[in-house]
Amino acid sequence: MNGIELTDERRQIRDSITAICNRFGDDYWLELDKKHAFPVEYRQAIADGGWFGIAMPQEYGGAGLGITEAALMLQTIASSGGAIAACSAIHVNVFGAHPIVVHGTDEQKRRMLVPIIRGEDVPAFGVTEPDAGLDTTRITTRAVRDGSRYIVDGRKVWTSTAQRANKILLLARTTPIDQCARPVDGLSLFYTDLDRRYVDVQEIDKLGRGAVDSNLTFYDGLPVPIEDRIGEEGRGFHYLLDGLNPERILVAAEAIGVGFRALEKAATYAKERMVFGRPIGKNQAIQHPLAQSWMELEAANLMMARAAQLYDSGSPCGAEANAAKYLGAEAAFRACDRAVRTHGGFGYAKEYHVERYFREIMLPRLAPVSQELVMCYIAERVLGLPKSY
Ligand SMILES: Cc1cc2nc3c(=O)[nH]c(=O)nc-3n(C[C@H](O)[C@H](O)[C@H](O)COP(=O)(O)OP(=O)(O)OC[C@H]3O[C@@H](n4cnc5c(N)ncnc54)[C@H](O)[C@@H]3O)c2cc1C
Repeated sequence: MNGIELTDERRQIRDSITAICNRFGDDYWLELDKKHAFPVEYRQAIADGGWFGIAMPQEYGGAGLGITEAALMLQTIASSGGAIAACSAIHVNVFGAHPIVVHGTDEQKRRMLVPIIRGEDVPAFGVTEPDAGLDTTRITTRAVRDGSRYIVDGRKVWTSTAQRANKILLLARTTPIDQCARPVDGLSLFYTDLDRRYVDVQEIDKLGRGAVDSNLTFYDGLPVPIEDRIGEEGRGFHYLLDGLNPERILVAAEAIGVGFRALEKAATYAKERMVFGRPIGKNQAIQHPLAQSWMELEAANLMMARAAQLYDSGSPCGAEANAAKYLGAEAAFRACDRAVRTHGGFGYAKEYHVERYFREIMLPRLAPVSQELVMCYIAERVLGLPKSY
């Protein structure tokens, strides 16, 4: 794999993560996927190694490294066979606290970041709503000020890990949209207890990533202390925007990791499977799509590494981060599709694992932002075309 340049420190990160992941192979992930059971032991192993804090500030127990190192870590995890499930099981611990890191007070950072980094808290991320997906400013979950607290009512959809989470990073409207100068104003961000007395959590039956739940969550009078509001009231949407580029870089890294894993499985199988008296990998119709996938994954990985390097050096990286997410998700999807087809009928059997990768790799094409909206970004911000929505 090309992509992120490997310094001694990064090689050490990759090797340490690989050593952990080797304890949780394909069969572990397949079993959890089938049982819809959360990867508790794996998550604990990552937490015990201190890896949740890889890109968090050192004064709160993190390693203070960059998005480049976090991307390397998540790509290594994804390519171990854990695929998207293994990344999603820890993603919010690794990166979800970004708005707290940037906009939290020192008291909040100490109170919130330390248990996230130690893995004691399981945070979920509650932004998407049934009637407001990509158009985030249209969310209707309300947080109404009541003395020293807010009262939250509304509903969110797709909230991942909410079956186990004890904390929620929640976006809610604090000023009605018709009283705001712009729809992006009047939204506030909270990091607070996911108190089951006021929040009903219902799991969504979905295509893949069975080991990590996603949920409908209903908020009915959840009290949120004012101390749990991140930054200024009404600025929550702007705070989330800060994290979009690094988020896209990490999602690209994860997708590409899955793609490389699928490709490796396909190449191994193509060398071994004998049909018409010769290995199927001797046929160019098998070889060429796999060769093409290698080139596509490598190219996407270089874009991802470039975006990460720009972000870590404080340079603008919107075009590169969006392009990396798009290219990585497409290249990985094609690699997984080809891995299934290279395995023929056995590609459809769970024991060969490529069908699990295939089901999971649909996700980076849809979330956290769709491929269509990435293209809108490139069209408008890079090519200067008029905004289409
Ligand atoms: C497994 C899973 C886990 C998730 N986890 C979380 C989570 O933990 N927390 C959370 O908050 N959210 C989560 N999400 C939600 C995810 O971020 C949203 O699904 C995503 O943002 C898309 O929103 P939507 O599904 O409502 O699509 P919509 O906004 O309804 O869009 C539907 C389709 O229309 C297209 N479209 C819409 N507008 C335009 C336009 N102007 N131009 C071109 N095309 C357009 C989109 O590209 C898309 O293809 C998760 C989703 C999934 C599937």
